[in-house]
Amino acid sequence: MKQKKYIYNFSPQNVEGNKKLINLLGGKGANLAEMSQLNIPVPPGFTISTDVCNYFLKNKRFPSGFKKSLLESIKNIELALGREFGSIKNPLLFSVRSGARKSMPGMMETVLNVGLTSKTLDGLILQTNDERFAYDSYRRLIMMYSDVVMEKANNLTQDIREHLESILVLNKQEGNIIHDSELSVFLLKKLCKIFKQEIKTKLNQNFPDDPHEQLLSAIKAVFISWNGFRAKEYRKIENIPNNWGTAVTIQSMVFGNMGQNSATGVAFTRNPSTGFNNLYGEWLPNAQGEDVVAGIRTPYPINEESKNQLTKNNSTLELKFPKLYKRLISIKSILEKHYHNMQDIEFTIQEGTLWMLQTRDGKRNGHAAIKIGLDLYKEKVINKIELSDRIRPEHIEEAMHPYFNAEKEKDAQILTAGLPAGPGCAVGRAVFTPERAQEFTEKKEPVILIREETSPEDIHGMHVANAIITSRGGMTSHAALIARGWGKCCVVGCGELIINYKEHRATIHNFIIREGDWISVNGGAGKIYKHRIPLQDSQVKQNKNFNQLFNILKNNQKIGVRANADTATDAKTARAMGAKGIGLCRTEHMFFNPKRINEIRKMIIFRDNQKIRKNAIMNLLPVQEKDFYSILKAMAPYPVTIRLLDPPLHEFLPQSKKQIALLSQLTEISIEQILNNIRKLHENNPMLGHRGCRLGISYPEITEMQATAILGAAANLAKKGIDAKPEIMVPLVGSLNEFNHQKLIIEKCANKIKQSTNTQFNYKIGTMIELPRACLTAGEIAQSADFFSFGTNDLTQTTFGFSRDDVSSVLNDYIENDIIYQDPFQSLDVGGVGRLIEIAVQEARKANPEIKIGICGEHGGDPQSIDFFKNQKFNYISCSPFRIPIAILCATKEC
Ligand code: PEP
Ligand code: MG
Repeated sequence: MKQKKYIYNFSPQNVEGNKKLINLLGGKGANLAEMSQLNIPVPPGFTISTDVCNYFLKNKRFPSGFKKSLLESIKNIELALGREFGSIKNPLLFSVRSGARKSMPGMMETVLNVGLTSKTLDGLILQTNDERFAYDSYRRLIMMYSDVVMEKANNLTQDIREHLESILVLNKQEGNIIHDSELSVFLLKKLCKIFKQEIKTKLNQNFPDDPHEQLLSAIKAVFISWNGFRAKEYRKIENIPNNWGTAVTIQSMVFGNMGQNSATGVAFTRNPSTGFNNLYGEWLPNAQGEDVVAGIRTPYPINEESKNQLTKNNSTLELKFPKLYKRLISIKSILEKHYHNMQDIEFTIQEGTLWMLQTRDGKRNGHAAIKIGLDLYKEKVINKIELSDRIRPEHIEEAMHPYFNAEKEKDAQILTAGLPAGPGCAVGRAVFTPERAQEFTEKKEPVILIREETSPEDIHGMHVANAIITSRGGMTSHAALIARGWGKCCVVGCGELIINYKEHRATIHNFIIREGDWISVNGGAGKIYKHRIPLQDSQVKQNKNFNQLFNILKNNQKIGVRANADTATDAKTARAMGAKGIGLCRTEHMFFNPKRINEIRKMIIFRDNQKIRKNAIMNLLPVQEKDFYSILKAMAPYPVTIRLLDPPLHEFLPQSKKQIALLSQLTEISIEQILNNIRKLHENNPMLGHRGCRLGISYPEITEMQATAILGAAANLAKKGIDAKPEIMVPLVGSLNEFNHQKLIIEKCANKIKQSTNTQFNYKIGTMIELPRACLTAGEIAQSADFFSFGTNDLTQTTFGFSRDDVSSVLNDYIENDIIYQDPFQSLDVGGVGRLIEIAVQEARKANPEIKIGICGEHGGDPQSIDFFKNQKFNYISCSPFRIPIAILCATKEC
């Protein structure tokens, strides 16, 4: 039987890998193979596949036959270069590097100069005629290898690297030496000796003096670093599966530390902050790659454009090595044309010869991503589909909202973290009540409102706050929904935060946040920081590139995009951002305004008192009609889906004595009786309680009032020649009978209005699918409905049996224990909730091929979930206005 291929060689004579093998070779290995194919100078080497990593991590040994393949690959390089691994005359040294299929910068380990021993050291001196260089390489190997291979891979915590580093610093101080490159041969020899003794004492092991032992242990150490703390944490954040494993690339060493004619550098093929089309990077003469990234020496700018305050007087690579710089420019062009993308490259110059050590797609900020994408499109390097692929949802989000300066954020002290509920970053003074939020704002002080959870009563404080933080609640909690709707920075479910409203302070472990303290919030990352982090403004409205991008993309959508909007202002914003309709107008949100909330409270609290209830309803009718009129007008001729009242009761009941007293005054009903009614309304599970169509079935006049208001507005608009398209949506339906009960009321209202106004107008009646039973009986319901809109917030809640509002603590444990991989309220659970949707869509389309299908839960703005809806051939997705550009971008991407 043919043995599985473990190793892929690359050298000018023989290239076995390519970018299609990225899963096996990781980004680094695959791209080195590609560059070799393109005749770009790459030091020969080979890549050990991720299969070997996974085998090793599972069985704690290499697969059989692997070591034989390894020796063969070493032989190939020896033949290509005329040097020998372990030779005492003409030694070959290796770099050993990690490489996952998705870049995990700095998260795994690297070992350089592998193969240097007390014997090969002499060979290196002979070969290079440079004793200082050879000993410098040896002390680097000792420092790196003892840390990565001898300590970390063995799960020890002796901090050997820091210890050796401190010895180096001490010796430099004693010798009045500033830069490592000034270390003398004598001192380097002394350091190598001391380092080996210290390793023996601290780690109880001898530094290995056998090149093959060094190589095998270095390979194992890189594999083991896949499960290191940093790598695991990074994978969690980036949603990278644990079972991918890392490849290991072994390459013959080239040396940037062989004197002043040698150098090392890193560069982006275009500026990653501005998108400007020129190389942007750093270099260091007489240094190895790790020196540039480690911050030991401040790197020099590669060209004029890369200069900053610190480096403005340093010489550029362009000036020092003009020919090689030109060669780099031509490689930039070859790589961009080959990869159809901006690249992040690493190179080394060894005694005047340029070598490329890495290329990968370069990370960039939002503004740069848009400019680079557009420029490559205009240069005809990429087409429309690639343009949409090059820009990631995070880029759009970043470009639309103020963001922290990345460097400053890295240095800031994090206080706690929660769920990333609302976009962008914000800075302000901490306040704990909506009233204090308003008072601070009136004094022109920016505020961050911190609450356990929010309710409609907090709305005025939420509105003026720069950001909202809650200690409880999930991604579809009140705070999250409202903040997202407004495009406001918000972090919810910060479980470590304990709030003391009375004393106007909160504690996180031992740290106290007092009212007025400055804090910073990153809503996209769900992080809260101490103090103020400088913000960068988005300026998206003035950004020509942003507008140009959407002009190109909008004609390429594979699914419609609507907005979740509750007011005419939101509708206008959504339309300006490219929404073609409203997919969800939550009518109860129209009452969050403190002036109106009392009418809805009267209606709910006194629902058994026909007089007060009818009175409240009649007061609401003109207000509602006016609202609907302006929303329908703002969106015409595009459709507006208006959902009948669906208030979870607990969100609407008054909580403070002041509010109850006010209600008593307004209704002339005693406080005691109001309290009594509130007690009677208490539900153990309000999310599963008397809400949705259940309310309209118990109190048909609510449905009647709302249908009259909607259709009355449509009739008025029709009279003025405005083509309004209301779609009346019945919420929380679980059966055909429930739906038909409400549909009958709406149709009666429609007929009445048509007769009384003598006007024809458009309208549709449909339902929200947000209960598992509705999914399973979708075929029946679809026969009677014009449209379905999936309410995936409630559908996720009822499918999992997780409470939307209290799920955060459970979720943390579940994610921590790999029971689920991500918050299902944020990204659709395709296996469960998605399966129900699939069944419902199939049955509905079979029963009613004309039925329009959309989604209006929070998943409508989630890039990963949008792919699912595209695959299910939904007619549209609907999300909050500030997520529209992201949704449009995702709507244009290939699945
Ligand atoms: C839903 O359940 O997905 C939905 C959009 O409705 P709400 O969040 O208002 O319950
Ligand atoms: Mg719902």
